[in-house]
Amino acid sequence: MSQPERSDDPFKLALGVFALDALSDDEVRVMEAHIARCRRCRAEYDGFRDVVAGLALLSEDDMRQPGGE
Ligand SMILES: [Zn+2]
Repeated sequence: MSQPERSDDPFKLALGVFALDALSDDEVRVMEAHIARCRRCRAEYDGFRDVVAGLALLSEDDMRQPGGE
């Protein structure tokens, strides 16, 4: 069974942004230091990187949703 995780790790919330390379240099350093120590975040980060790599393969047409705007 999957139960909702408590957001006891604020770094987790920033992992997606980090994977998109959208953090400032300072934030990147903090995230890298944390990921080096936190296995859970490292695993999540690896997952995000896979997603980002997959998104990079999509064209803009693929991203366009029918009925938008
Ligand atoms: Zn963590």
